[in-house]
Amino acid sequence: MTERVVAVLGRGLTDPQEPAVTADDLGLTRGDGCFEATRVVTAEDGRHTVDHLEQHLDRLARSAVGLDLPEVDRAAWLALIEQALGDWSRPGEAMLRLMLSRGRESASDGPVTGVLTLTPVNPETLRQRRDGIDVITLDRGTSSTAFAAAPWLLGGVKTLSYAVNVAGLREAKRRGVHDVLFRSSDGYVLEAPTSTAVWLRAGILHTTPTGGTGVLASITQQALFAAAERGGWPTAATLARPGELLDADGLWLVSSGRGVARVRTLDGQPVECKPGVTEQLAGFAGF
Ligand code: PLP
Repeated sequence: MTERVVAVLGRGLTDPQEPAVTADDLGLTRGDGCFEATRVVTAEDGRHTVDHLEQHLDRLARSAVGLDLPEVDRAAWLALIEQALGDWSRPGEAMLRLMLSRGRESASDGPVTGVLTLTPVNPETLRQRRDGIDVITLDRGTSSTAFAAAPWLLGGVKTLSYAVNVAGLREAKRRGVHDVLFRSSDGYVLEAPTSTAVWLRAGILHTTPTGGTGVLASITQQALFAAAERGGWPTAATLARPGELLDADGLWLVSSGRGVARVRTLDGQPVECKPGVTEQLAGFAGF
């Protein structure tokens, strides 16, 4: 059964063992581009459900605007996704990734590069969703308002430049935990390297505000909050310090692949959570 599908805009399905981009691709040489990642669930009969595809394509289009890239060719991406799904029948959860770069350095008026991959969800992700995670906070070095008047910092843009994010994850591993919650230089909770913080305090579900903080607008958090509000739970965008999260009635990291993972400890301190709440929030988020 196929374990990886690779497809390229303008070319269609390609051999996953062959290179998809050239050595002078600006996505490779500069990280100059953006991407999206979402979950595909494949049933035993081969039918696929792609989570929030329209919202992911909308965010890809917004990221492209933020990077002054040409307008995203939605129809071309949809056709490529359709083609890739046609080649994928592995039951269970997979990650669909769409990567868009400015194209080749040697062809300044040339086309953008678009690459799609489809791979099984990492078993570690599923374990973390089931068992919860231990998290440390790390300073991200920018203030909670730094991105408001500085669009060149690309706040809220899902760029290909994730070297700092993965360095944070390596630091977490070095310190024997699963993940990181970045703090602003003025001491507020931002986001994790590949997920968003959600916490419950005094009956209200909170997340970090976008805008000046530079955090990504999470599609999982938005889906979770919309369903929670329909279920009568109040929600808020709140700047909070890590100490306030230790007092919370639950803290989670959420993302399109991970779903809703409960934070068991933050900086070595336990974070309480009533039984059943994680499962309820996961249901709200569609996991
Ligand atoms: N923040 C960052 C930096 C991310 O990379 C991601 C993952 O996509 C998220 C938050 C969560 O966003 P989403 O729920 O749309 O996957």
